[in-house]
Amino acid sequence: MSRQGWEDSEFPIVCESCLGPNPYVRMTKQKHGKECKICGRPFTIFQWCPGAGMRNKKTECCQTCAKVKNVCQTCVLDLEFGLPTQVRDTVLQSQGDVPRSDVNREFFIASVEGKLGNDSLINYAKADSSAREQLKRMGRSEPYYKRNRPHICSFFVKGECKRGDECPYRHELPVDNDLAHQNIKDRYYGKNDPVAQRMLNRTDKVSKLNTPEDKSITSLFLTGIEPDISEQDLRNFFYAFGELKSVVVIHKSKVAFINYATRAAAELAVSKTFNNCNIKNRTLRVQWGKARPQGPKADIQSDTIGGSYSHSQPPPPPPPTLDDLINMPPPPPPPGQDTGYTYPSQDPTVLGTATGREFRA
Ligand SMILES: [Zn+2]
Ligand SMILES: [Zn+2]
Ligand SMILES: [Zn+2]
Repeated sequence: MSRQGWEDSEFPIVCESCLGPNPYVRMTKQKHGKECKICGRPFTIFQWCPGAGMRNKKTECCQTCAKVKNVCQTCVLDLEFGLPTQVRDTVLQSQGDVPRSDVNREFFIASVEGKLGNDSLINYAKADSSAREQLKRMGRSEPYYKRNRPHICSFFVKGECKRGDECPYRHELPVDNDLAHQNIKDRYYGKNDPVAQRMLNRTDKVSKLNTPEDKSITSLFLTGIEPDISEQDLRNFFYAFGELKSVVVIHKSKVAFINYATRAAAELAVSKTFNNCNIKNRTLRVQWGKARPQGPKADIQSDTIGGSYSHSQPPPPPPPTLDDLINMPPPPPPPGQDTGYTYPSQDPTVLGTATGREFRA
């Protein structure tokens, strides 16, 4: 969390990752030591070592700029969620209102500085809870101290470092990392941020890919159903999105199926609960149900027997039609055992019986 509660001039506004694990870390301070990399005005630079074996860190932008966007003065990521501002602003749908032209910016900064105090212009409380949930999921829940490691040794990369263990830089080959060649202003203003773009694409894809084209699918598949979540709990929660056809809970497998009467209700439910389903303080994963495979004859012969199969099993050969069954001689019972069933389809333990039918829709 932010250290904004600390006295401004005595402590920088930095995130926990940049600060390192020891909150009493010693800092050196240089008044008006450099120009802010965002607004260009001189500001007080702080420098510290965030832990043994880590590289020295310093503040890169001034406290006013940090407060305006609620970002860390060092990594310029959002203080609350540790995310790029572009991700945060896209999810919160607040594009920020910091003017970018120099004259406007100077005026703007001068005007906010007086009234800003310790507050930020970013008001998370106004955002709706699902947006905040999404940000929480996208961000890290723990500080990421690895970010403070020394930079990679450029001599090592070329095979030329002769310092061996003495070398203060990391002897590793670089993995392609967008953060490394990112412009700090772009990151601050949330424009052309490759890291943000990648994170947003990923979430986009997940939610789009999962919507089945088969419009007959009206069911949701839930995982993470702990024993204290009852069928009634699920009904109460999911009824809000439309009429329920059935709810089936299988506690043994920690899964449940929510079957809606209409596709519209199912779509609404998925859109509201995907990555955002919390019942009794438990996080449930919501996915679309799958289509039930159809036997080749299934759509022509409506009077087939045993025609529904679990999506997790390979489809068996097409079921016999009524005519087939009538004309078929009864199979002999296995020796020494009489099951009482004449045909496989009469066996209540096989697929397609009433107990198993509901949640396969
Ligand atoms: Zn600044
Ligand atoms: Zn930081
Ligand atoms: Zn080296």
